[in-house]
Amino acid sequence: MTNCLFCKIVAKEIPSAKVLENSDFLAFRDIDPKAPVHVLVIPKKHFEDIAELSKGDNVLTAGLMKFATEVAEIEKLEKGFRIVLNTGQDGGQSVQHVHAHVLGGRSLTWPPG
Ligand code: 5GP
Ligand code: ZN
Repeated sequence: MTNCLFCKIVAKEIPSAKVLENSDFLAFRDIDPKAPVHVLVIPKKHFEDIAELSKGDNVLTAGLMKFATEVAEIEKLEKGFRIVLNTGQDGGQSVQHVHAHVLGGRSLTWPPG
């Protein structure tokens, strides 16, 4: 997708603070962190949201969760963490390239707003 912010981050047209990368996924720090650790995990291939990804690619859908969990390990979130996929308008999704938030480093409240 030519006009997608996260595709531009994958293409390195926009810089990001990389945490982890492999051939299918990229993890980088959120520009506006909501917790001491706040990392975004994205498939390099463009899918709009988790609904589109899960219909389109079973391997990447499962891989996204594994990769996000690996990020939590690397970030030493052994006390706990949260993986969040905001989806669509009511879900509060503001970037239309599927991404998992990995949040941790403090006690997180529940429920989210
Ligand atoms: P959403 O609101 O769609 O669930 O999450 C989008 C996230 O992307 C937000 O937490 C926001 O802070 C982050 N974000 C927006 N623009 C950029 C950017 O240019 N670089 C990085 N690293 N994060 C961004
Ligand atoms: Zn994209």
